[in-house]
Amino acid sequence: MSPRDYFFSDEHEAFRETVRRFVDKEIRPKINEWETNGCYDRAIFKRMGELGFLGLGYPVEYGGQEADIRMSIVFWEEISRCGAMGFPMSVCVQTDMASPSLAHAGNHAQKDKYLKAVCSGEKIIAVAITEPNYGSDVANIETKAVLEGDYYRVNGSKMFITNGTQADVINTVVRTGGPGYQGVSLLLIDADTPGFSVGRKLEKMGMLSSDTAELVFEDCMVPRENLLGREGEGFFALMAGLERERLSVCALSYTGAQVALEEAIKYAKARVQFNKPIIRHQVIAHMLADMATEIEACKRLAYHAASLVEKGISCNREVSMAKLYCTETANRVIDRAVQIHGGYGFMKEYIVERLYRDARLATIGAGTSQIMRHIIVRELGLRE
Ligand SMILES: Cc1cc2nc3c(=O)[nH]c(=O)nc-3n(C[C@H](O)[C@H](O)[C@H](O)COP(=O)(O)OP(=O)(O)OC[C@H]3O[C@@H](n4cnc5c(N)ncnc54)[C@H](O)[C@@H]3O)c2cc1C
Repeated sequence: MSPRDYFFSDEHEAFRETVRRFVDKEIRPKINEWETNGCYDRAIFKRMGELGFLGLGYPVEYGGQEADIRMSIVFWEEISRCGAMGFPMSVCVQTDMASPSLAHAGNHAQKDKYLKAVCSGEKIIAVAITEPNYGSDVANIETKAVLEGDYYRVNGSKMFITNGTQADVINTVVRTGGPGYQGVSLLLIDADTPGFSVGRKLEKMGMLSSDTAELVFEDCMVPRENLLGREGEGFFALMAGLERERLSVCALSYTGAQVALEEAIKYAKARVQFNKPIIRHQVIAHMLADMATEIEACKRLAYHAASLVEKGISCNREVSMAKLYCTETANRVIDRAVQIHGGYGFMKEYIVERLYRDARLATIGAGTSQIMRHIIVRELGLRE
């Protein structure tokens, strides 16, 4: 049993208990079914909205809780204990990836219509940045939005979009101006807009309880009033939400690793080889010690970055370091958990098999490890 973590107050811990009970009762029993179906049941978003889980960081005026970031960390950690990383990722897209730029750049009418519905779970939201030809290189995206009277005519396609088949509204990165990030804007596109379609639901290696889709915009006419902020400000609005986005990925990753560690300890105590439980072979015990130490280091990096966010201190460097370290560590730790399980770790009936596949995305999505290093190099002043 770990000692109480004093990064969190009694209030945070009470909230942790609430989320944990919810996950035990309403998520874990469903997760295998959702993994098989390739998507969660969308009614769960409404339920989480009723419980006040989807708007933790947002203003009360729009249905949020105005809670501090530590409350969000508690939520991310507990939702990630559900037995898969896919569904938690879909939830984090709703709460901390697709909606921060709406909260940041949206006007009152937009927030009243969309942010409220996101917080209540009545609308599922996706964020569509990546395209078939542009991923890390966001500033060069090609999906075009041309203003014609009171509507933008949108043409293009988006790739790998989480919640893509379920979303009621897609926060879409479009090009309204010239080349580079100054030409990029954000448009809220309702999924029932003529000209919008889900090209295909994508089959993937892991994160199966979360849907991923290619989205197509063909002469899709979007009301001008759905522009978030002003033309050319889309990139900056996206940046405003990046810290929370990356910290949520940190929490998903080290919690996935923590679950794998717990499974590995349980297994190592039960599995007997050479007349003793394998945990009594020092090599195995030392592997577990290393795993626990690395997870602890992940948490400290993430909590430190979160405390800077809380104080309003610029912390691109710390958040990028946390994202890099937590996601790479999760892959390393879960790999060892599979190893400790031997052949059973390769079998679908063991949770480490799923976590191993799920964690692989973490160093790719929300900014790859290479891009994190790129930012850290810049922040260290080692390059232009
Ligand atoms: C399951 C899943 C869910 C996703 N959900 C979403 C979503 O909801 N919304 C969304 O918009 N996107 C989403 N993505 C897309 C994800 O964010 C991108 O895959 C990611 O940003 C990388 O882009 P890319 O795949 O085009 O790779 P690329 O950018 O083409 O990169 C390919 C390789 O080159 C490296 N590389 C690229 N540029 C550099 C550089 N300058 N220096 C060094 N190395 C470099 C990368 O690190 C990577 O290893 C999702 C992806 C997956 C797989």
